[in-house]
Formats: sequence, structure tokens, C-alpha cells
Amino acid sequence: MRIPLVVGNWKMNKTASEAAALCAALKEGLKGSAGVEVAVCPPFTALGAAAASLAGSDIGLGAQDVFWKAKGAYTGEISCEMLLDVGCKYVIVGHSERRGRFGKPEPELQTELGAVFGDNNATVNRKAVACLEGGLLPIVCVGENLDERHKGQTEAVVSSQLAAALGGIAPGDVGPVTIAYEPVWAIGTGVACEAEEAGRVCGLIRERVAALFSQERAERMRILYGGSVTPENSFGLMKEAHIDGGLVGGASLQAEGFVRIIEETLRAKANDR
Ligand code: PEP
Repeated sequence: MRIPLVVGNWKMNKTASEAAALCAALKEGLKGSAGVEVAVCPPFTALGAAAASLAGSDIGLGAQDVFWKAKGAYTGEISCEMLLDVGCKYVIVGHSERRGRFGKPEPELQTELGAVFGDNNATVNRKAVACLEGGLLPIVCVGENLDERHKGQTEAVVSSQLAAALGGIAPGDVGPVTIAYEPVWAIGTGVACEAEEAGRVCGLIRERVAALFSQERAERMRILYGGSVTPENSFGLMKEAHIDGGLVGGASLQAEGFVRIIEETLRAKANDR
């Protein structure tokens, strides 16, 4: 009933010409992969080139962040209208790296420069609302860090991030939202969350969405898993009933590996339809 979604988060990788080449290779590699929605999120500077390269394909384009204001004196920021204008459909909102939470500890970035990555629950909410009002599909990221997991706070952290991110959104407006469960300790570390555990937390997220909105909304909402997804582990993760696809970082930077993850997702979900 939920169409799986696999999204590539390219982070700060790929120039415009490299992005065009990767999109062309994905277009070629994904011929005949109907049944799963695919999107790529290049850096802002490569969005135009990626859009041109993806023309005529079903691969969606997304951005890695957005600012909630429509226009004005906000140096360095990008609005929903600008993203729509360049061809975006999706926006990743509240990625842990934008919240200043890193899987691999980078002390330099977490201390003096920590404020550079300034998202928090309140800004994530504003960005999600701006996307909904602006006609973009937000992919809202939630997830605990290692310390929080060790302290048994996973449920509490994920639930509070979720409630804050979706605060003030009416049940009738939440339909376009996708949630990505991204345990911070699994992002970019090569240590993915065990499939069963990732499925359990995604199930918990669905329960929370039901409590916040309605059972029907929860059953329709796509919940992705992200954190060191690879061609090798994707089948097991995507077999989980509450995991509706993946948010893929490192493994989305090469066409072959990303295409394999999409194929594994299709294979895992084949019997569900
Ligand atoms: C991400 O960028 O959201 C991510 C999950 O990265 P990686 O797949 O590299 O862990």
C-alpha cells in the first residue's frame, strides 16, 4: 500500500558536471525499476545540472535543506520557491548533520564550529511547515545518538523529535511528510542498525504518528531507514514491515551501488504487493 522510496543524500559531494554524469548513469541503470520511487539530493550548486540530466525520467530531485522564509535578507539561505523553481520535489529536513550531531565524532565541528550547523527541533518544525505550505515534500529526519541509545533514551528522543517536528501541522496536511529514522551513530560509520531493531523503532514512529494524527495517517506515512545502508544490508532492512525505503548517504554516490540498493528494495517488498 505504501510505495517504497529510496533517496540518495549526496551531502557535500559532486560538482555540477559530476552530478549530471551520476544522474545520467542512474537514469540508465534504473530503466525497468518501476514499483519504487527514487530521488537524489545533490548539493544546491548541482541541482540545476541534476534536474537537466534527470529530465524525462521518474527520478525525483530533492534538496538537503531549506530556509522557512520566502525571501529577504537571509544571506546564504535558500527558499522553497527557489527549490521548486530548480525542479525539486523533496527536501531533507533536520538531518542530524544539520543539527550538529555527527555519527563519527568530529570534536572540531562539535565544539567551536558547532553553531554553524544550527538546526534544532524548533527550526526543523518551521522548515517542515514551510515545505508543506510551499508545495515541497519534506523528509524529516529523527534519531538518537550513541550516548542516548546507551542510556535507553532512543524512544524518548525519537518521540520528542517527531512531535516537535510535526507540531502544529493539521492531520489533513501531514500526508506529504516522509519520516527518516536515522540513528546518528549509524550515519557514515559503516555500522548500520540491525534490521529488526531499525524495524522496531520505525514501528514505534508509526505508533507515535497514529497518536499525533490518526491510525489512517500513520498507515499511509512512509518511514525510511537511514544509516550505513549498503547493497549488502538493504534487503534485510527493507524486509521489515515498517521500513518503507531508505535514506542513503555514502552508497548513493556511485550509480552501481545505489541501483543495487533500489533493486534489493524492490525484491524485499515484492511479496508485500
Ligand atoms: C545520510 O546521509 O543520511 C546517511 C544515512 O548516510 P550514510 O548512508 O553514509 O550512513
